[in-house]
Formats: sequence, structure tokens, C-alpha cells
Amino acid sequence: MSYAQLQRVMRRSADLASASSILNWDQETYMPEGGVAARAEQLATLSSLHHETLTGSDVQLLVDSVGDWIADCSETERRIVEKFVRDYTRTVKLPADLVEDQARTAALAQDAWKRARQASDFSLFQPLLERTVELKRREADIVGYDSHPYDALLDVFEPRMTVETLTPVFEELREGTVALLDDISAASNSVSDDVLHRHYPANAQIAFATDVVKALGFDFTCGRVDLSAHPFCTTFDVTDVRLTTRIRENDLRSCLFGLIHEAGHGMYEQGVNPRYSGTAAAQGASMGIHESQSLFWENSIARSPEFWSWCYPRLRAAFPGVLDDVSGHDFFKAINRIVPSLNRVESDEVTYNLHIIVRFEIERDLIAGTMSVADIPHVWNAKMKALLGVVPPNDAEGCLQDVHWSFGGIGYFPSYTLGKLYAAMEWTAMQEAIPDVRHQVERGEFTAIREWLRTNIHDVGSSELPATIITRVTGRSLTAADFLANIRRRAQLVYGI
Ligand code: ZN
Repeated sequence: MSYAQLQRVMRRSADLASASSILNWDQETYMPEGGVAARAEQLATLSSLHHETLTGSDVQLLVDSVGDWIADCSETERRIVEKFVRDYTRTVKLPADLVEDQARTAALAQDAWKRARQASDFSLFQPLLERTVELKRREADIVGYDSHPYDALLDVFEPRMTVETLTPVFEELREGTVALLDDISAASNSVSDDVLHRHYPANAQIAFATDVVKALGFDFTCGRVDLSAHPFCTTFDVTDVRLTTRIRENDLRSCLFGLIHEAGHGMYEQGVNPRYSGTAAAQGASMGIHESQSLFWENSIARSPEFWSWCYPRLRAAFPGVLDDVSGHDFFKAINRIVPSLNRVESDEVTYNLHIIVRFEIERDLIAGTMSVADIPHVWNAKMKALLGVVPPNDAEGCLQDVHWSFGGIGYFPSYTLGKLYAAMEWTAMQEAIPDVRHQVERGEFTAIREWLRTNIHDVGSSELPATIITRVTGRSLTAADFLANIRRRAQLVYGI
């Protein structure tokens, strides 16, 4: 047994996963409608080959004998092996009947969720969500945890993250955010985003957004941009990263900020050291670290006043006549408007986290068994009122708005907020490392920023745990303080508080 044998397994697994990603990407971008059924078959075949590759007896032998051959590995190889064994151990713990049951339940639950949302009737989704929660609780018991069963589910998206770590940080975030909303409430009508809803022709939007992400440093020799219903980033290799965005002619944000966000993910994937290519460590370190990269570019950079002092003249030139009567400062205010709303996806940078806290608390209590699925609509509405001061008029606009629970993605939501907190901490560290970074942004110079992120975060892929990366890069452990300081500073510029 040797590393070379494991390398062959990982290469085959990576190739099959990439082939599936290409088929998925094609389905979302170019595939004609009629291709759906055949595509599902193709993906199922690849998925079973992938499963066979990772669960064969040869792989079990390799993992069982790892103590005998790991001494011959280099430091890099050792980290890759550790990552592989970590993933493998979780996968083989789960019995086949549970995995099958979860897949079947997810398929039914997604269908039920769609119907429930259409009818705005939670009771249509409730029995399948009850089954989903029951299966997730069983999964947590099998995988194991130290203090809270939800930890076992968080671990899928944010390795080693726990309820114990998250709870005080989210508490600090909630208090700071609610206090800020309170402070700006008197001035809330002073900012309008009407200018973002003028007519922006589609061709000019995609051309402009593409130029911007090129300037930020997304490498078009190893990537490309296409259109899809929902923006995403997918990676076939460090040398081939695909971004998508969507265009709404009456909303300037959708295409531009969507593409900047996805380019943040894409630059992360392009920045992973090629020595991890085709191994278990080739992806980003976690969902949270991944979101920190997209949100870093989207919020820390592309919503900053420095960025728009460089970008605004270019934007005006790209849409002749459309923004002649709008000052750069008013434009900056429009893209940083803060308004508590019902919908997570459409919410602003500040109130977004309150939507996440609502979901986190509900998931945590469902998995702990201290709350029942039947209580969700009422608990949801009560939490929305307490945190955001708004109450959904129906379930469709309330607890049925997100797809995540229908596919069993319990434990996913906290990653979005973790991404914001990590991004703010990274921005603090970067300003210390590159003292004139804000001036560089003002001049449209982004190379030093991208290189800093590449060297400090991208390079190691998932060969380090998220907490290790954050501590190494920022010298501190997870905190909401940087994020809260940033949104307050931004709100001062926008609302004059
Ligand atoms: Zn993202």
C-alpha cells in the first residue's frame, strides 16, 4: 500500500466528479429542455461510478493501513491523506439504508416543498420535513458529536464548527445589528435605490460586469462566464472555472454584484495550489471560507466608496445618459441601502444575518428535539417580528421561502453568515498587511489584494481546517466585532448617523 495508490483513487474520483459538474453546468446554461431525462440518467451513472470508486475494498485497505505507509509521505501528501481519511470516515459511517432513505425523502420533499410554497400551505410540506429531521437526527447520532447533535450536521459544511462556538458570536452579531437598525431607523427614508431600477440594456450589463471581474483578477484563460437562472460558480479543475450570472434589465445589481460574488468564489478555486489538483484537498476549505471569498469582493471591496470612486465614471460611460443626474455618492448610498425585509435572498448586507439567525435557531432546536416541525410557522413569524420587525403575511413569504430544508441541507445556513464574519476579519488583516490598500482600490489596482488572498487563503485548498486558516491569517479566533465595526462605518457614510 502507498500514497501512489491513494492518488489513483483520488484522481479517478476527481475526474468523475468533474464530469458530473460539466454535465450539471451544461444543464443550467445550454442544454435544451428536452434533454432533462437523459441527463438525469447520465448523472446517475457517473454518481454510482463515483460511489464505487470511493467505497471499494481497495480503498478500505488503504485507509486501514495508512499507519504503515504515511511515514513515507511528504508534508503535502500527509495533509491530503488526512483530509481524505476525514471525509472517508464520515462517508462509511453512514449505513446504505440511511443514505438511500435520505435521497428518497429529499426527492419527495423537494416536490412537496414546491407545491406547499405555491399554495402557501406549510402543512403540505410538514410530514416530509418531519421525516427529513428524523433522518438528520439519526445521521447525527451515527456520525457522533461531543455536546450538541447539530454539531454533526454543521461539520459537513463547516468542519469542526460547533453550537458552543457559534452561539455567543451570533448573539453578539444579533445585538450589534439590532442596535444599528435602531440607530438608522429615523433616517431610513433618506436613502433611495430607485436609480438601480432604471433601464440597463442586457448586453451592456454583461459586458460591463465581465470587464469588472477581469479587472479584479478573475483569469479568463482558465475560466469563462455564461448566463443561468441562478448565478453559480463551478470548478472542473484549477485550470477551468466557470461562472454564471443573470441579467434583469430593470435591476443593475443582479448581474454586476452576482458576477462579482461568483468571481470571488472563482478566484478562490483558481488560486488553489495546483499540487492539490485531483486530490481530496483541491476544493475550498469550507462553505464559510468559500463565502468569505465571494463576500470579500462583493461587500468589502465592491460596495466601498473607494471602489466606486474608481468604478462610477466607468459605469456611467457603459450606460450613456442613464446616470447623468446621479452623483457618485448617491449611487454609493443606493447600493448600500439597509431595509428590513421578509426575504433572505433579497435582503441587504446588514439584515441578512438576522435571517440566518432565525434559521440557525430553528434548525438547532429541531435537531436537539426541543422544538417540533409543526411549530415552525409560528416560531418563524415570532422570530422575524422580534429580530427584523416584519411579519410574513403567509408561509410562502415566510418559512417556505428557502429550498435548503427540502433537500436535507440542515446545517448549511450558518455558513453564509460565517462567510461575512470571516471576510470582515480578513479585511482587517489585509489592511494591516497592505496599509495603502484602500488607495489601491481607489486607483483600480487589485493585484495585491488578489495575491494576498491567494497566498494566505487560496493556496492551501482544503488541506487546512477553516479555524486553522482564520487563526493563521488574522491571529484571532472567530468574532463578529470586525463585521459590526464595518457595517457601522458604512452606515455612517450612507445614513449620516
Ligand atoms: Zn456564494
